[in-house]
Amino acid sequence: MTEYSIIPRPLSVVYHPGNFHCTGIPQIVHDENPGIFLNEIQVFVGQMKNIFGGEALNGSSGSIRLLKTDIMAENSESYRLEILPDGIRLSAAAGAGIFRGLQVLRQFFLQEYSDGAVTLPCGVIEDKPRFPWRGFMLDCSRHFYSVEFIKHILDSLSLQHINIFHWHLTDDQGWRLPVRQYPLLTEIGSKRREHRLHNAFYGGFYTEVEIREIVAYAAERHIEVVPEVDLPGHTSSVLASYPGLGCTGGPYQVEDRFSIFEDVLCAGNDDIFPLAEAVFDTLAELFPSKYVHIGGDEVRFNRWRECPKCQQRLAALGLSAPAQLQSWITSRFALMLQQRGRTAIGWDEVLENTDKFPLPKDVIVMSWRGQKGGIEASARGHRVIMAPYSEGCYLDYRPIDRPEEPGQLGVNTVAQGYNMEPVTPEMDNAAASLILGGQGNLWSEIIYAGKIAEYMIFPRICAIAETLWSDRKHKNLDDFSKRLAIHQNRLDKLGVLQYRGALG
Ligand SMILES: [Zn+2]
Repeated sequence: MTEYSIIPRPLSVVYHPGNFHCTGIPQIVHDENPGIFLNEIQVFVGQMKNIFGGEALNGSSGSIRLLKTDIMAENSESYRLEILPDGIRLSAAAGAGIFRGLQVLRQFFLQEYSDGAVTLPCGVIEDKPRFPWRGFMLDCSRHFYSVEFIKHILDSLSLQHINIFHWHLTDDQGWRLPVRQYPLLTEIGSKRREHRLHNAFYGGFYTEVEIREIVAYAAERHIEVVPEVDLPGHTSSVLASYPGLGCTGGPYQVEDRFSIFEDVLCAGNDDIFPLAEAVFDTLAELFPSKYVHIGGDEVRFNRWRECPKCQQRLAALGLSAPAQLQSWITSRFALMLQQRGRTAIGWDEVLENTDKFPLPKDVIVMSWRGQKGGIEASARGHRVIMAPYSEGCYLDYRPIDRPEEPGQLGVNTVAQGYNMEPVTPEMDNAAASLILGGQGNLWSEIIYAGKIAEYMIFPRICAIAETLWSDRKHKNLDDFSKRLAIHQNRLDKLGVLQYRGALG
């Protein structure tokens, strides 16, 4: 190695003469109180053991010294990594920064450790993220993924400083969240007929224990798990479980097709709110994140137009169009979450039909239908997460325009994700300050196996991670592509199946 080739590219790299050389994987030492950074050390040592085996860590001739510093305290993810001839020094104000720095070392060792030794060029890396929200969304409704697989993905994502796992837990094709007061959501709503399996039942849900396990596993890697329960549309799994919550009363089924469906929760039925309360209580209990994604996308209004209860509601609220009922529901959900100390996130449809029921100011908008939702939301004073399908953030799209590639609906290349710019020219400084970051989304209609999911995620998420972490002035696709070639070999060692074709 003559250059570090880190992804995402750090803020500053300065090389010094000489090399650091040691046998084995260097051991972590620190002078501070023994409890500090214990979690980060344990995770890192576990990651090293998984790749290199325990013997590589025993009796190493080199060391990584951890230091707590107040110098970069304004951003908890900042770190300073010094590669010196006689050892490695990693400084940060918080565990998050130490963890990010250790992941850079993980990148080095994945690349350089061979024949029982490692050699690195000397230098100093100073780094901090551009955006606080660098996310990945996995749809676990259209297809169900095991706890082991999710952990593998989280561990692999942590290599590129991804810090948000947006967990899409419910949709028309399956409800994956146990809610004690509504047991049928999982008893009925978690299973569907699957044509691929000759109409056998397909599905599953995560137990409370498994959810806590994933949340803890992510937290150890400084990844926050943000749950999504998609309401009031995309709710066939709810209606199949509790048909009384729909406008027509059914019959309904957990959908075995992939589409946008007419049946949604009945806006005129007061019973949908106790259900939402129970769901939000469950989420508040299981997920420490202060954010809850409430969905709100692709709601069809035809049932509300025809339903006597919904018409009554419309009249009682003095509304003129059924579509306005969605903004009324959104504002109620946002309030319920506020009462639980949580902040709602919605897909960009929550901006629409809000003349009578304005979108509550704290609601964060996730811009997916291009960036216009994010532009409008930030102009209206809302915080924004950019995940536009037009700019490389939809990982279910094909990675290149070739019929041999898996994917649906369109093409989102690595280069598009790299060139995605969350702050657009339309935004003034006030609007730009509301952009939290962005994320890559993997919808799983045709992703029936974890290995296919890996191929869709990597390396496109590496490009998105760099877009969200690295300083804008360093954006350079050629430079990225050179580093990526090296980085993909590191991901190979983690057992990640990757797309390796043209970047765009
Ligand atoms: Zn209705």
